[in-house]
Amino acid sequence: MLALVAPANNEEAAIAMFLRAVPASPGERLDVARESIVGAVDLPALLRGEATCELTWRRWLAGLRCHELSVRDWLPAHARLVVVAPHPNDEILACGGLIATHVAQGGRVLIVAVTDGEASHEGTPFNREDLAYVRRNERRQGLRLLGLSQPRVLALGLEDGHVQQLGTLLLERLMTLLQPNDVVVSTWENDGHPDHDATGHMTRRACATLGCAYLAAPVWMWHWATPGDDHVPWLRLRGLPLSAADGSQKQAALAAHRSQLSPRNLDLGAVLGHAIVERAAWRTEYFFV
Ligand SMILES: [Zn+2]
Repeated sequence: MLALVAPANNEEAAIAMFLRAVPASPGERLDVARESIVGAVDLPALLRGEATCELTWRRWLAGLRCHELSVRDWLPAHARLVVVAPHPNDEILACGGLIATHVAQGGRVLIVAVTDGEASHEGTPFNREDLAYVRRNERRQGLRLLGLSQPRVLALGLEDGHVQQLGTLLLERLMTLLQPNDVVVSTWENDGHPDHDATGHMTRRACATLGCAYLAAPVWMWHWATPGDDHVPWLRLRGLPLSAADGSQKQAALAAHRSQLSPRNLDLGAVLGHAIVERAAWRTEYFFV
């Protein structure tokens, strides 16, 4: 069932309860974040272990000199930007700077929330319902920090971790809500996380059918791939330069996702490790065209 998500008063209690239980002193958070996602129980094997060093990527990308994307060409102010995000905060990791840029030029933005990300703390005492409340609220906070005073989030409510099995349903939903003049961004279909892959695959199919402009954003690819990796279509990579202001907004928006930046319990580190947080500070966002 489609439902427009609106702030709910009873969310605050769930959020407070959740965050009280998460150890989040700055030192502790940093220590655990350095563990990256080692040992995470909710991610495929490809995404475990140490990420490719962020500095390695930056140096290599500087030499790659991929073509630049022009917002003026790709995303005119009158167009609607639709971001299809498998989990809360994917819209930021994928294109938080692009969202901020579009908002600044007076553009409309719709976030399609494929799941509520309720499975990010499997193996901990946190129940999925509370976590979904927390993450929906974090998403709204993050989007406000990107300049959206009243974020429009269309929640599809698919089960976190099962988007591949629900791909046909996702495609049907996208076919009804996307419009031919939309500019659409989703995660790349070979990103490495099953939900990201399925979201990317179905979004690309819907856009091809409807004629929407489409950009695929790598998110977890930066974790498992290495520079020049044969599995990555580097010739299709484009860079979108961000202003300092847009870059700062993106970082602030990501920081709103506290549940993903704090250790989940004494054994499980943060979902978003230091490498992914550092990449979110890049002054360029990358997309496959
Ligand atoms: Zn995700």
